[in-house]
Amino acid sequence: MPLVETDAIVLHVFDYSETSRILRLATRDAGLQSALARGARRSKSRFGSALDLFAEGAAQLHLKDGRDLQTLSAFDVTRSRSELGEDMGRFAGASALAELVLRFSGADDVSVALFDVLADALDRLAAAQDEEASEATLSGAWRLVAELGFAPTIDSCAACHAPIDIAGELPFSHTAGGVLCERCARLYPGGRRLPLEARRAIGEWAQGGRLAQSDPRATRAHQRLLREFLQQHLADGRPLRAFDAWEQGALVAR
Ligand SMILES: [Zn+2]
Repeated sequence: MPLVETDAIVLHVFDYSETSRILRLATRDAGLQSALARGARRSKSRFGSALDLFAEGAAQLHLKDGRDLQTLSAFDVTRSRSELGEDMGRFAGASALAELVLRFSGADDVSVALFDVLADALDRLAAAQDEEASEATLSGAWRLVAELGFAPTIDSCAACHAPIDIAGELPFSHTAGGVLCERCARLYPGGRRLPLEARRAIGEWAQGGRLAQSDPRATRAHQRLLREFLQQHLADGRPLRAFDAWEQGALVAR
């Protein structure tokens, strides 16, 4: 069994047997992995309290070909990100980002860049003020979408690729994967219309920029747009539970 040492982020944890835990890990060098942490529930576990949700650390994994469940032998925490557990908005946002990675990447999608974007998005969310949590989550999600190769087209027509330079609203089609010129819009009925401000925000976020979004109605519109986009481009028809909880939580909070 080859031993792999790699940075890893805990995306999901559940108890297994009286003494152990099973983790879903995003790793920097070995894609997405499920791993058994033997003895992790014992009070004197060698893992200590390291295996908390969203924690990042140096993991030692024994990988076996053809196995779905690998063995975790060590996890030395470098960032606990405990702030994410202290606020509902941050926790729900981090869960939505984790779900995005869990659902849309696999063990074969080894991407250092995707790992780094996830790590940075979680760091920013952990450092966000309570009222910035929604925006930090939106920005992290669009960056992950871009890294997964599905960034929406926002400055040219997604169908005919003609450059678009209109300050007002533009038709946006999830099917086409971005904004449309008025001519192509007729071929893609049922989309939304996006104001310039919203297009700017998405473009900025997808590139890792920061853009304060203080209008709650705009935040809700962004959440809805992102959900529809994910459903169209990435999902397999199964509900995105953590994403839904985040979206509904943000509604309840206001
Ligand atoms: Zn067009």
